[in-house]
Amino acid sequence: MTDEILVIGAGPAGLAAARTAAAYGAKVSLLDDNRQVGGQYYRHPASEVLRSVRGDLFDEAERGADLLATTSDPNVAHLPGAVFYGFAEEGIAAFVHDDRLRRMTPGATIVATGATERPVPFPGWTLPGVMGAGAVQNLLKGQRTLPGRRILVTGNGPLTLLAAANLVRCGAEVVEVLEAARNRPPLAMLPRLLLEPEMLARGIAYRAILMKHRVPFRSRHVIVEATGSGRVEAATVAPVAEDGTPDLSRARALSVDTVVAGFGLIPASEVTRSIGCVHVHDPGKGGWIPVRTEDLETSRPGIFAAGECAGAAGVEKALLEGELAGLAAAMRVGAASGPLAEIHRDRLRRRLRRLMAFRVAIEAIYRPPGSLLSLARDDTVVCRCEEVTLGEARRWTRSGVTEANSLKAITRMSMGRCQGRNCLPTVARLIAAETGIDVAEVPLPRPRPPLKPVGVGALIGKD
Ligand SMILES: Cc1cc2nc3c(=O)[nH]c(=O)nc-3n(C[C@H](O)[C@H](O)[C@H](O)COP(=O)(O)OP(=O)(O)OC[C@H]3O[C@@H](n4cnc5c(N)ncnc54)[C@H](O)[C@@H]3O)c2cc1C
Repeated sequence: MTDEILVIGAGPAGLAAARTAAAYGAKVSLLDDNRQVGGQYYRHPASEVLRSVRGDLFDEAERGADLLATTSDPNVAHLPGAVFYGFAEEGIAAFVHDDRLRRMTPGATIVATGATERPVPFPGWTLPGVMGAGAVQNLLKGQRTLPGRRILVTGNGPLTLLAAANLVRCGAEVVEVLEAARNRPPLAMLPRLLLEPEMLARGIAYRAILMKHRVPFRSRHVIVEATGSGRVEAATVAPVAEDGTPDLSRARALSVDTVVAGFGLIPASEVTRSIGCVHVHDPGKGGWIPVRTEDLETSRPGIFAAGECAGAAGVEKALLEGELAGLAAAMRVGAASGPLAEIHRDRLRRRLRRLMAFRVAIEAIYRPPGSLLSLARDDTVVCRCEEVTLGEARRWTRSGVTEANSLKAITRMSMGRCQGRNCLPTVARLIAAETGIDVAEVPLPRPRPPLKPVGVGALIGKD
């Protein structure tokens, strides 16, 4: 084992971790499967020319320039395009870089692999013209391109509201914004909202943009179907009941060419689940998250987790957790110690507690109604890779196949390219609904290396 620190993921959390550990003199290997660092939040425009297009709106990369420059720190070895493959034997981390499989035995590892968009199947969700709220943000930031002209935004959570406001600011015609939650802060939560006035003001500003442009915002509403031949041409929407069932008697049709469906994020917890870290199911943070100490160490000694992969709660939390995990890992490998480091750590812990107290209120405001599984019909494809429908999966579940692993073996659900990122959350909700148990009692299949697709050549050492 070396005294080096491995950071998996160079988004806000991974970069903050690498920068902090390096500042204390630790040697850091920072890997990310993208060529450019920044993750989802600090997404770069695809070309310099584009940087000037609405640069006032999408200036994250400019504002984060200092953090993005972490890769030029002499203590940081940045490995662009490196894919973390998995942990081989005890403590040996394996990854593919430049088409070669490489191994290292770090003194500490920080998992900062982010989150993915929550898949909520509904009839027509696979039509061209339906896309996620995060995907829209990436299209606007990276390509400075609108996804369409007449757009319905539907879903649940703050990212969807952000995407809707940005679409309006970029000149798209947003016909309606539908939020599945009741979206009203319970009175008891008001004091918590005041803990982060800047973030509260940002949320209010996004709503104000919609009001200013007379875009109807409907809470407790959801899409029930997207239709069109070969691409989206219309969408049917309806109010949704407390249990997540849409009231079809009050359904309305809207003519649109794009549907932005953002139902929140799911922590990318494959790394921590693959090595058997203890996890809990926290619906407010997106699902299964690793149990961690106050210093963000998981149940596996020397493995820390930071950012969205340990609970989807926004970029501010990712940056703070990255800094704390970087400091804790630097302490673990002996690079950081003494009163100054402890004062720094305690300040970060306090800051994080305040932010998480605020997040409790945000989770209450955006608590979705039921599981929204009832949006899908039996003929709705729920596993996009293997084209398995809800009806097929339900038939097997009703015939006694009530484990995700067995359903996988029989139907091939989650055996495709996305390895279940698109269908496993639906599988878990289906099994829970059909067997009358809580989704937290439905174990997911254990991820196995390779955790992300890698070239076979790299594994067999083609050269
Ligand atoms: C599509 C999408 C768009 C978003 N857009 C915004 C936005 O515009 N504004 C906003 O406030 N929030 C946005 N978010 C929320 C976003 O999660 C946070 O803002 C923030 O980026 C989280 O930081 P992070 O470091 O935890 O994760 P991320 O930024 O997601 O960074 C994780 C990094 O790890 C890499 N990675 C994952 N697994 C591996 C592996 N096995 N090997 C190597 N590298 C790996 C990923 O490619 C990624 O670069 C978006 C989320 C998503 C999913």
